[in-house]
Amino acid sequence: MERTDYGCIIKNPSRFVFVAPHGKMGNDDYTDKITELISQKYNANAVINSNYSRNQVDKNDISQSGDTQFQKDLVALVDDIVAGYGKANVIMIHGSADKWTHSRHDKKRLFNNYPNEKGEWLKNGEKRPYDIDIGCGLTEDHRYFVDSKNPSDVELEGFLKLSSSDLWKRNQNSDTMTDCRRMPRREVYNLKRAFEEKGYRTTIGKEWAAQNKNKLVQKWSSNPDVGSMQLEIIEQHRKNTEKISNDIVAALKAVYDNINEVK
Ligand SMILES: [Zn+2]
Repeated sequence: MERTDYGCIIKNPSRFVFVAPHGKMGNDDYTDKITELISQKYNANAVINSNYSRNQVDKNDISQSGDTQFQKDLVALVDDIVAGYGKANVIMIHGSADKWTHSRHDKKRLFNNYPNEKGEWLKNGEKRPYDIDIGCGLTEDHRYFVDSKNPSDVELEGFLKLSSSDLWKRNQNSDTMTDCRRMPRREVYNLKRAFEEKGYRTTIGKEWAAQNKNKLVQKWSSNPDVGSMQLEIIEQHRKNTEKISNDIVAALKAVYDNINEVK
């Protein structure tokens, strides 16, 4: 582990990089520790911001932090991995509060695709209807929900969409979304199922689809050698850093198998 002005960088012989852009206490609590633990348990790389609050500089926003050491280190690390392995996987670890609050969001765009378990729109203070929301630019279309171990390509195309209409617009400038097809639908779907098998309610782009072109996930959207996604985890599960990091590693292993050893 190497200490840096923003926190630390951890290098290991792996094509995986885990990133904590909001790891400072008071932002996405525990994501710095979780990211460090995952990198240890998976023998993977990590870039962890634990020093800068998102109000100072949002490390998850390319337009704000493009010339900071954090992003320079991350980009250089990913370049090195691609040079050595031919492909890199970048996974950001984020955190949501357990409960939904209206105050953070533009009310006009409040989840019209965000019903609770009863099929009603979420109310202020209601528990979020997921434990983990996977963001990779794609959004679940519940009208085409699939629940099989091995859906067809056509089923996956229907279920997972790029946000292109008002119906699927997340708040905050998501009309600037970019194409993030670098993360194949089947890979994301298999990861969702792997988390579900561990007991996590898991959605894809339900709330945090990371479609905004300025989101860090989109940094490599035009690079076919880099797959990027983020995991938004509610606080209840982040508190137990050992368990959640073990479960994330196990789910990733279930999907990626021995991909770590592929040279
Ligand atoms: Zn975050």
